[in-house]
Amino acid sequence: MVAQETADVRGTVGSADWSPAARVRHVGTSIFTEMTELARSTGAVNLGQGVPELDSPAALLKDVADAVVAGNNQYPPAFGTPALREAVAAHQLRRYGLDYRPQDEILVTTGATEALASALLALCDPGDEVIAFDPCYDAYAADARLAGARLVGVPLVLDGDGFVLDADALRAAVSPRTRVLLLNTPHNPTGKVFTSEELAVIADVCREHALTVVTDEVYEHLAYDGACHLPIATLPGMRDRTLTISSAGKTFSVTGWKVGWICGPAPLVKAVGAAKQFLTYASGTPYQEALARMLGSVEEWAGELRDTLRQHRDLLSEGLRQAGLHPYRADAGYFVQADVRPWGYTDGMTFCRELPQRAGVVAIPTSAFYVSDDAPAWLVRFSFCKREASIRTAVDQLTRARSAGPTP
Ligand code: PMP
Ligand code: GLN
Repeated sequence: MVAQETADVRGTVGSADWSPAARVRHVGTSIFTEMTELARSTGAVNLGQGVPELDSPAALLKDVADAVVAGNNQYPPAFGTPALREAVAAHQLRRYGLDYRPQDEILVTTGATEALASALLALCDPGDEVIAFDPCYDAYAADARLAGARLVGVPLVLDGDGFVLDADALRAAVSPRTRVLLLNTPHNPTGKVFTSEELAVIADVCREHALTVVTDEVYEHLAYDGACHLPIATLPGMRDRTLTISSAGKTFSVTGWKVGWICGPAPLVKAVGAAKQFLTYASGTPYQEALARMLGSVEEWAGELRDTLRQHRDLLSEGLRQAGLHPYRADAGYFVQADVRPWGYTDGMTFCRELPQRAGVVAIPTSAFYVSDDAPAWLVRFSFCKREASIRTAVDQLTRARSAGPTP
């Protein structure tokens, strides 16, 4: 699990006793915070947290500035500005043939993060189970716990140079308590894009067991080399049982803006909105205004971004290979997995804690993304959403550190 145990489970502040609620008792500092702090304190190149060092569309930045100056600074409607909801509806129809009514089938959220939390709060009762594929994004287990539910990890299997679905393991994981299947494609942290065959298997299981699908598609525009992102909502019978989440953060390299959205059948979106309205109510009016305009021409922008990221992925993967760290295939997103055993490590956490001293580089141990106990401990995630110069420096330093040896 990502978070470490909170040290002070009970204590006093001055004369006041306190104890945290059970739902946050085991939530500690996230691995992203820990590793970013390590990069800051050591001056290492940060290939850990997926924070892009890439440009955003100039027109989008100007539109936001204009929207602020023009006075678009008050609460937007709780479900999002009509313009952004219409733009999201047009995007889903144009790209995937998915038809959603802007009025009641689309909800704008404070990033995909809030959409995920609200969806699980809306769909799960205490004691329910949520299935996700392991490794998975750290918020999933935390959100399930906030809802009183339990995340059940179904490990993706390392097959050759990539990760594949284990259909039998998925079927075996479903129990009478399973309410939701939480999918993420393209996938963080592996860079996997689920194939249409894999999605068909997942859809079968969900239909057979009447599961609701929550699908996190924040990397939908970042699939490379002809890998094709297919929303599971497009499969037969799936639109009615699927909530699809995306966000502007990765698509436009604006992760600090926190504008996301969720699309699905009106009754489900209404339930998600019921939770969301008391988390933030609404946020980001000027960003929503500007993004509504930008989303219409996203294809043009995303094509260039994909070219840049593909080059950065190749540079990083080749550099990792030269440094003797075995990289796996990444068809999408921001991250490459590497096997650190050739450097003599069996534990990625130890490798990551020592790497700033050894090579002036920060990465994230992939074990932090596993819910189940059988994580391949020797996998480490490196991020390539960085400036070319940062990746080149990291690769040079890794190569030098390897030749300087000795391995532990
Ligand atoms: N889902 C995945 C798979 C992610 O990698 C991230 C992290 N950026 C998020 C959700 C969160 O997205 P947002 O910043 O829009 O809240
Ligand atoms: N999505 C980012 C990553 O996987 C991190 C976001 C965060 O820090 N919570 O690196």
